Amino acid sequence: MKDDNFLREMNARHLWHPMGHPGDAQKNAPKIIKGAEGVEIIDLDGHRAVDAVGGLWCVNLGYSNDAVKQAISDQLWELPYYSAFAGTSNPAAIEASYAVQEFFAEDGMSRVFFTSGGSDSVDTALRMARQYHRLRGEPTRTKFLSLKKGYHGTHWGGASVNGNNRFRITYEPLLPGCFHLPSPYTYRNPFNETDPAKLAENIAAAMVDEIEFQDPSTIAAFIMEPIQGAGGVIVPDASFMKHMREVCDRYGILLISDEVICGFGRTGDWTGARHWGVKPDMMTVAKGITSGYFPVGGVLLSDKVADVFESAGPEGSIWTGYTYSAHPVGAAAVVACLSETQRLDTKSNAAARGTQLYDGVCKLAEKYDIIGDVRGGHGLMTGIELVSDRAAKTPMDAETMKRVHQTAYEAGAMVRLGAHNILMSPPLTITEAEVDRIIAALDKGFAAA
Ligand code: PMP
Repeated sequence: MKDDNFLREMNARHLWHPMGHPGDAQKNAPKIIKGAEGVEIIDLDGHRAVDAVGGLWCVNLGYSNDAVKQAISDQLWELPYYSAFAGTSNPAAIEASYAVQEFFAEDGMSRVFFTSGGSDSVDTALRMARQYHRLRGEPTRTKFLSLKKGYHGTHWGGASVNGNNRFRITYEPLLPGCFHLPSPYTYRNPFNETDPAKLAENIAAAMVDEIEFQDPSTIAAFIMEPIQGAGGVIVPDASFMKHMREVCDRYGILLISDEVICGFGRTGDWTGARHWGVKPDMMTVAKGITSGYFPVGGVLLSDKVADVFESAGPEGSIWTGYTYSAHPVGAAAVVACLSETQRLDTKSNAAARGTQLYDGVCKLAEKYDIIGDVRGGHGLMTGIELVSDRAAKTPMDAETMKRVHQTAYEAGAMVRLGAHNILMSPPLTITEAEVDRIIAALDKGFAAA
């Protein structure tokens, strides 16, 4: 291993980081994480912090799961790669498809199309939605609906349905025919509605209005996160996703549940849609499917969608796919990860520890005026919105956000900043004492604001 100064210097000179300014690494050295153990990360200086971000909402099993590491290592020696493009398959991928459909059987998902990550999955799902309608004789259904504040990845499809203009504006024009509805964001919304159930009804009405305006025969699918993650951990009313399902059904629109963050136990249930009691037509998954140990994503399809493709002629063929779709090493990671996820019953721990984290942050909100809104309480996803003036809800400035972040890190917890929000999604294996450490570190961070 090269010495630390070399690493810092070369990082600044040669490594461009996603979602950051390429010149910034020279001015603000990133935290270089050299190791991890359990739910802790260790930086180049040897400082340890509880990873309250879970990598990037993905390391659900923590960093020390031997079963997953062993399965990946074994598969590397068995078969490191083979393509799964039509004409070939591999045992690990077949096993993974079986494990995935078992895991998602209660959601009605019976087929999986593997990808390399979440953005791939969203892009593929949008393509499949269009093809589904084309196969059914409705080729005019090409448009997509989604929610403001939603995040669906960075390919052209995902960026087009994303609901945060930071990820869109630089790359416009995006895919035509994508329309955005208000987010179920009780703290700020165009209806000035603070009652989450009424806000859900308002958004359903806005959705009907938009569909009628566009003409129902032009809309292919509606995509949503069961709980919006990157947009600030926006927890809707329990009725919200049911309303969306009902409107989709009324107009023959496919409902795609983007489970890239919410899937695999994070919400306290195995999937976000299940948490809200809804059966979508398709799901997109990634992150927790391999707990970040290997890049894998997937599109899951219900019988309703899959049957249309399978019973069609040659026009039912899928003309999209990735070199690493159904990668055998990734597939081995999927099988081991799903088995460990179930063995450890991570959803139950996520529910209990998520409540602890949420309650702890709510207590901090009584102490610090800079906390404008706390969102969570449904598994291990918590968002804290910081404001410089509580009554006016003025978003906190970037410098203060950075100071809170750095102080919390030095006090022992890595959190994530998303504009003026602090976002948390720790590993689902976290203990009670480790959640207390996050809360204590945040306390110090807010004191330094
Ligand atoms: N959908 C959602 C809901 C996500 O949170 C993300 C990533 N944060 C993506 C899609 C894109 O996934 P990836 O970064 O693996 O491409």
